[in-house]
Amino acid sequence: MTKPAPADVLSRLKSVLGEGGWSEDPERLAPKLLEWRDRWRGTTPLLVLPKTTADVAAVVGICAEAGVAITPQGGNTGLVGGQIPQGEILLSTERMRAIRDVDVDDELLVAEAGATLAAVHEAAADVRRRFPVGLASEGTATIGGVISTNAGGTQVLRYGMVRNLVLGLEAVLPNGEIWNGLKRLRKDNTGYDLKQLLIGAEGTLGVVTAAALKLYPLLASRAVAFVGLDSPATAIRLLARAKEETGGGVEAFELIGRQGIDFALKNIPGTRDPLAEVHPWYVLAEFGSGEPDAAEAAMGRFLERGLEDGLIRDAVVAQTEAQAKALWAIRENQSPAQKPEGATWKHDVAVPVSQVATFLEQADAAVRQLVPAARITAFGHIGDGNIHYDVLRPDGGSDAEHSARRDEGSRRVHDLVASLGGSISAEHGLGAMKTEEARRYKSPVEVAALQAIRAALDPKRIMNPRVLF
Ligand SMILES: Cc1cc2nc3c(=O)[nH]c(=O)nc-3n(C[C@H](O)[C@H](O)[C@H](O)COP(=O)(O)OP(=O)(O)OC[C@H]3O[C@@H](n4cnc5c(N)ncnc54)[C@H](O)[C@@H]3O)c2cc1C
Repeated sequence: MTKPAPADVLSRLKSVLGEGGWSEDPERLAPKLLEWRDRWRGTTPLLVLPKTTADVAAVVGICAEAGVAITPQGGNTGLVGGQIPQGEILLSTERMRAIRDVDVDDELLVAEAGATLAAVHEAAADVRRRFPVGLASEGTATIGGVISTNAGGTQVLRYGMVRNLVLGLEAVLPNGEIWNGLKRLRKDNTGYDLKQLLIGAEGTLGVVTAAALKLYPLLASRAVAFVGLDSPATAIRLLARAKEETGGGVEAFELIGRQGIDFALKNIPGTRDPLAEVHPWYVLAEFGSGEPDAAEAAMGRFLERGLEDGLIRDAVVAQTEAQAKALWAIRENQSPAQKPEGATWKHDVAVPVSQVATFLEQADAAVRQLVPAARITAFGHIGDGNIHYDVLRPDGGSDAEHSARRDEGSRRVHDLVASLGGSISAEHGLGAMKTEEARRYKSPVEVAALQAIRAALDPKRIMNPRVLF
């Protein structure tokens, strides 16, 4: 727990922000102190609600001077507890939601940190453009949050992670100074890139206040299919084909195990089994093209060939937008569908794409040695080698018993990931949850270099002190 903020610091913060700029009301604070999965509960002496970048600078400046710690928070959809304060001042960006500019010539949009991903999608669509980051949390997740976690999602395969989609940043550094790095450049090769350091920093190197984001033209055609298959190895073969068939136009290629479909059928009202027969594995594939009808034609060729040579067992293609949404809902509900099923060990891991099938096979064996009847649900972005590998307690088993084995079970999974050259956090970050675990797998040389960078920018370690190295 962070040391308490002195009363004079709290009153200075209140007076600089004025009415509406702070709160101590327990009801107002409550939703910001509880994480989405109810796993992290926090405390804070004060919620600050800056409206402008200058407000953020004033808050950080006061805290820096007094050595008082701050936890930034956007939409509170982070999955590793980094946004939940444990005694720090809680800085919410909820009043900083403006879309400052949309520029078609520069193909970019400038949004403030508190703008939701969905609001950015809407603003882009107004000029027939899109910002290709799709998360199931996009109605709530903010631009500051997705940048600070370097979020991934379903379209990384084609467009890269958020790191690849940010042209410029504005931020308040840990000493309270405003850095205006809101450049509109596609090329800027002038040495170290401060923007890239802040992306994925999980609030430890300053507060992101605004960002210039790359836009892309709308697609002229789009095809969505749900495909039944026998194994992850087949999914990888099919992905290579899909890329060839579309000339690089695979918008998404999501692997889902049958267990996850069963959970969705049971726990998410309105879910329908996508195919007539049960299959061990599924892929949700989306193709996109700038040419009218091209995505549908490529999907037709892809499915026909796969069915002919037996790689695909069965498939359904969405004929309407509503059908596409229904197929996507099955994928997006994979996490919510688990919630009523009791204790889970969750893993957000990445291995080289070529190793995904080996990982799944060996992870299942390692987990089942410990909990033979565990219900394992694996899904995710197979084209990025990113699997959400979740181990639920046996049906009717004890939550407490399963939770007590989490550390040992997760250690087995993470050791396997490391042995395959993978990462223990593919897209959710380390937060409060995985920082210690990550130390095991990073080299001391790397940790020391990262700590030196942090100490140089934040010598009093006031920014999200419990997170990262
Ligand atoms: C249903 C669901 C589906 C999800 N799917 C995905 C997915 O597919 N891919 C994926 O990558 N993630 C996913 N997530 C995780 C989450 O949505 C992302 O991590 C998102 O980027 C967090 O945004 P947020 O605004 O909610 O950030 P928060 O949760 O508020 O914060 C996350 C981190 O960023 C820091 N932070 C927030 N705002 C700022 C700021 N302005 N300046 C500095 N630091 C800041 C916080 O301190 C914290 O460390 C999902 C979450 C849910 C609930």
